[in-house]
Amino acid sequence: MLDPRTLSPSRRAAAATTDLSKVYGSGETRVVALDRVSIVFPEGEFTAIMGPSGCGKSTLMHCAAGLDSPSSGSVRIGVTELSALDDRRLTRLRRDRVGFIFQAFNLLPALTARENITLPLSIAGRQPNRQWLDRVVAMVGLSQRLDHRPAELSGGQQQRVAIARALASRPAIVFGDEPTGNLDSRTGAQVLGFLRDSVRELGQTVVMVTHDPVAASFADRVVFLCDGRLVDEMAQPTPDRVLDLMKTLDTRPSAS
Ligand code: ADP
Ligand code: MG
Repeated sequence: MLDPRTLSPSRRAAAATTDLSKVYGSGETRVVALDRVSIVFPEGEFTAIMGPSGCGKSTLMHCAAGLDSPSSGSVRIGVTELSALDDRRLTRLRRDRVGFIFQAFNLLPALTARENITLPLSIAGRQPNRQWLDRVVAMVGLSQRLDHRPAELSGGQQQRVAIARALASRPAIVFGDEPTGNLDSRTGAQVLGFLRDSVRELGQTVVMVTHDPVAASFADRVVFLCDGRLVDEMAQPTPDRVLDLMKTLDTRPSAS
């Protein structure tokens, strides 16, 4: 099969931040969650974001996805600068161009797997692209489960529904915050495999927050955050190399 990533020699950015800072609170309670983070998420690449608890991983993801607004700096999705959008346009961009996978699967219990997958499109008043949807559903191995409700599915199957839902609109970029955090390691590995397949086979762009070196090793690249700053990155990660790098993060003197 053709690797979609080899089709365009100079890959474009699915999303990017420039000098992105995020400050919460003020005075005594002031927290600098992100400190001038500049990062590119290239099209068709699977990026993992790692770092100690509280280092700003979720904040980076939320800002890059347009769920939270920067204190300074900029975020773009494709060529669209998010700060240039009013609320209505931002909501529409999130709906049309961004997919989300959460730790809690967030499926609606009364709806079947099929209905859960197409719900965001229905809300947007859009018809799913049948061919695309069939590929997505086949990839995550749900073809025989589409009429089941979440309670009739295992945790791993429910997260696969959530992945299919995130991919259904063929978004420019999919974000996951610890998407396998609630799954046992075997089921988690399977779900991560499907995320990787969506990159390899469908040319999707995926950004995932994780604290697990094994989960990170499914990505093409891992970026490391520490105290709100990007401190390192690694291509073609393996669990051992990720673990080794994480150890050095604890002992590095923090730059000021
Ligand atoms: P991580 O996901 O890496 O654990 P977060 O991005 O959630 O880290 O948080 C980064 C820092 O910002 C932490 O110190 C956290 O306490 C703080 N923070 C996150 N969200 C808020 C908020 N809504 N209000 C105040 N502080 C926050
Ligand atoms: Mg977090």
